[in-house]
Amino acid sequence: MKNGFVYDPLHGIDGQKMDVAVKNGKIVESVDEHKVTTIDASRMIVMPGGVDIHTHIAGAEVNSGRLLRPEDHYKDIERKTSITRSGVGRSIPSTFTTGYRYSRMGYTTIMNPSMPPLEARHTHEELNDTPMLDKATYPLLGDWWFVLEYIAQNNIKECARHVAWLMKSTKGYAIKIVNPGGLEAWGFGHNVKNLDDQVPHFCTTPREIIRGLCKTNKLLNLPHTIHLHTNNLGKPGNYQTTLETMKCVENLAADNKPVIHITHCQFSAFKGDDWGTLQPGSEEIASYVNTHSHVTMDMGQIIFTDTTTMTADGPFQYDLYGLTGNKWINHDVETETSAGIVPFRYRRKSYVHAVQWSIGLELALLIKDPWKIFMTTDHPNAGPFTFYPKIIGWLLSKKAREATMRRINPRARSQSLLPSIGRELSFYEIAVVTRAGQAKALGLKNKGHLGLGADADIAIFDINPEKTDPSRKYKTVRKAFRKAAYTIKDGEIVSKNGEILKHVDGATMWLDVKVNEPARITDDIKKRFKEYWTVEYENYPVTEEYLKKSNPLPVEAKV
Ligand SMILES: [Zn+2]
Repeated sequence: MKNGFVYDPLHGIDGQKMDVAVKNGKIVESVDEHKVTTIDASRMIVMPGGVDIHTHIAGAEVNSGRLLRPEDHYKDIERKTSITRSGVGRSIPSTFTTGYRYSRMGYTTIMNPSMPPLEARHTHEELNDTPMLDKATYPLLGDWWFVLEYIAQNNIKECARHVAWLMKSTKGYAIKIVNPGGLEAWGFGHNVKNLDDQVPHFCTTPREIIRGLCKTNKLLNLPHTIHLHTNNLGKPGNYQTTLETMKCVENLAADNKPVIHITHCQFSAFKGDDWGTLQPGSEEIASYVNTHSHVTMDMGQIIFTDTTTMTADGPFQYDLYGLTGNKWINHDVETETSAGIVPFRYRRKSYVHAVQWSIGLELALLIKDPWKIFMTTDHPNAGPFTFYPKIIGWLLSKKAREATMRRINPRARSQSLLPSIGRELSFYEIAVVTRAGQAKALGLKNKGHLGLGADADIAIFDINPEKTDPSRKYKTVRKAFRKAAYTIKDGEIVSKNGEILKHVDGATMWLDVKVNEPARITDDIKKRFKEYWTVEYENYPVTEEYLKKSNPLPVEAKV
């Protein structure tokens, strides 16, 4: 790639004109120019391939969503070409379509954040079928019975060994926690309301679960922090819970390193006593994050469109069903976690939805350090990932925000902090929030940057930053981010100007956690697998052969 404007924030490169050379799927110092394919990238932006830290694209929950919503399919058809397969789906696209659409936007790596351990096999089957991308998935552990028991006994070492076993067994990448304690309570039709509520039958609390798994994460040396969907998500007044959650692991942080990732924070930044008095809690959250270094988060930005909400937070989805009266699914396999799916439309004229829209952007703009908050829609919860270019427009341009603001609910507009925020992200900062920051937070050493030896996953966008002022020309910029001029995966051009040129599978990354002492598996534990679940202990693990293209990442644990 010759003469592109390169944005590589992990190396501090901010739009300098440079060449990038690639050989055997890696970034190299130089290549023999007579024997290579050259891309003239002058007048274009070159970035590392996009990385999505949180997107629901695979597994039983997503697939149930597909079943629930035929109307989502026939609205949107992906035609077959000589290279690609056909597909359907707008907010819950089929697997192949998902891969193609990410690739067209210059993305090369995604993280699927919500995998009940028993559904690991299904999740990997779908990830195997999702081309063009490297991927990984997070097992849900915040309500896993053995974890709750070890935490109640304060036996963090054994908890860590057990999690290591489970991470390997499910071929997972990070510890996912959803409404800690709440999912277990939901098995009895209840929920937990604050960090110190008792989890029924387990003698523990959400606070202890979060802290216990945070310590577990550190003992295991996992590359990413715990990945947390807070208690009380989606409820007015929940910004307090979010602040408390961040505070509760404050003293576990060391060396200014993050120990917790709060996912789709928009849904957890509500002030007010009820929907009528809802207000943004973004200022309070941003001011906490600005003065602490142990937290990262992602936006969960609302898009005004029709979408499908889905989360392991069963009690929340039940409430959402109550609010909307829409059809819904309460999905659960053998009470390991819980899950709900509800179709949803975010409306500009709705006071609540417009406040939510504002909160996501306020968080992204008020949090000063872009390495702390990343761009997501919690696909498909706040909107389909295909709307990312629209969010990039809002982040880059106050004018773009004002254009949307003019059309939203007037009372929400008067509550919004956005008119007082002049900040506009630069292309460099966009590269942080869409790739470099996410890769760093995930501990992905070879991704999110263009240094020597990095994976040659690259996106080139047809924007000349010397000629284009994104603040004014946000529509032009949006268009360029919608269809990357080139997407390069492992050194090969896989898509060009929105057309898929080559099918590649992409690898599934998982953590091969090496512990000094294996998890203690007693006859009692085995007996409980037999009694409580239809899959016995021995049959639980997903073997490596099950993955189409396996990329185990070794981790040396401290237990
Ligand atoms: Zn999510």
